[in-house]
Amino acid sequence: MPATCDVAVVGAGPAGSSAAYFLARQGLKVLLVDRFEFPRDKTCGDGLTPRALAMLDQMGLLETVHTVGFPTRGMVIQAPNGSTLSAPIPTIAGRFGYTLIVPRLHLDALLLEHALRAGASFQKMRVQTVEQVPRGVLIRGDGGAAVSAAAAVIAVGANVGLLLRMGVLARQPAMMVAARTYFEGLTGLTGHSRFYFSDVPLPGYGWLFPLNGDRANIGAGFFAHGPQAQSMPKTPAQALTGLLKSPALQPLVAQARQIGPVKGHPLRVDFATAPTVFGRILLAGEAAGLVNPLSGEGIDYALESGQMAAMHLAEIFQQGDFSPARFSRYDAALRRRFQALFVFCNRVRDSALTPRRLNLLVALARKRPSLQKMLLNIVLGEEDALQRVSKWAVLRELVWPRG
Ligand SMILES: Cc1cc2nc3c(=O)[nH]c(=O)nc-3n(C[C@H](O)[C@H](O)[C@H](O)COP(=O)(O)OP(=O)(O)OC[C@H]3O[C@@H](n4cnc5c(N)ncnc54)[C@H](O)[C@@H]3O)c2cc1C
Repeated sequence: MPATCDVAVVGAGPAGSSAAYFLARQGLKVLLVDRFEFPRDKTCGDGLTPRALAMLDQMGLLETVHTVGFPTRGMVIQAPNGSTLSAPIPTIAGRFGYTLIVPRLHLDALLLEHALRAGASFQKMRVQTVEQVPRGVLIRGDGGAAVSAAAAVIAVGANVGLLLRMGVLARQPAMMVAARTYFEGLTGLTGHSRFYFSDVPLPGYGWLFPLNGDRANIGAGFFAHGPQAQSMPKTPAQALTGLLKSPALQPLVAQARQIGPVKGHPLRVDFATAPTVFGRILLAGEAAGLVNPLSGEGIDYALESGQMAAMHLAEIFQQGDFSPARFSRYDAALRRRFQALFVFCNRVRDSALTPRRLNLLVALARKRPSLQKMLLNIVLGEEDALQRVSKWAVLRELVWPRG
């Protein structure tokens, strides 16, 4: 007999645990399944944007996450020609003015624990397929394990295999790829997050995100698409090796020790064209393509879309309205919140991330605090900042500085 619940959530990353937490808080019977027991590692840069911090705060988890995180209050951006821009994280009303670097080993375990404390249950299960059945869904896993539910949230990250098998995706979407490793014994850390557009394939970037002590998460990622794909490294690990040997990184890592393998992973950045609803199934986080196509960050959107999926499902259960039209309102809500941001970031990635334009932007932003703030807010995926980034605003920043 399959286990039964109101809502089954497949995938216990930030999107799945957020959905399970908010569903359980609404009094629904939630079963969260993942192919791994936790704590488990997840290949990531470990950077939490102010948006992500706002969500953790709303969930009552920010203070706990601070105990395993390292706050960074500024960013250093290095242009392809080697010139650098150093700037504080902009403060926006209602947002925290810092980022927090938290190894996913700890963050995801804390999020899962929080969802369980709110009343959700957890089962280890590698899901093979999710079938639509009369009045609900049937989730089938390895070894004959099964879960039956009235509705489901799928939050399996970049694992598109399940979505292809189910027919949610017709083909594999174009994805970014990135790799990271950890170092300790680094010299010259300033407590700033560093972004490198030098010595990495473009569009893409390298990063160094500091952790407690003299440790850091160092990585590189890029989008191999279109004509330039032929000349790019075959793997993200190769791009990271190139960055580690670069003049920018060598002074920092020369005396340091690598404390873990280089791990690569794809990133789904295709929300602008991705399906988000499939019968009684809502897709959340990276399973809905919700990773910023410019910065590669997606923990914030995972937490937000998990909450949105939960609130829509809670209303569906309260009103007893399981019609396709009601489920599709989740897609409409996601589009309202994220579509413009993704279309804009796709355009910027495809047009502005060239050596010439990046050199120019960094040179101008060094002199103009208002342009600096705008660039950092775009990198941090702040949609409020984006609303002000009309082409006139960009033009004004470039030719008619205020700051
Ligand atoms: C190298 C790299 C660096 C990154 N750096 C950052 C960063 O600094 N900041 C940031 O915000 N984002 C970053 N990202 C993106 C971020 O990792 C994702 O946006 C985020 O993890 C998405 O969360 P999620 O919950 O949607 O999916 P995930 O975190 O991927 O969670 C999916 C879960 O589903 C489970 N699962 C998958 N398939 C199955 C199955 N068939 N059955 C059962 N369980 C399954 C997995 O085990 C996993 O636990 C980075 C990504 C990469 C690859």
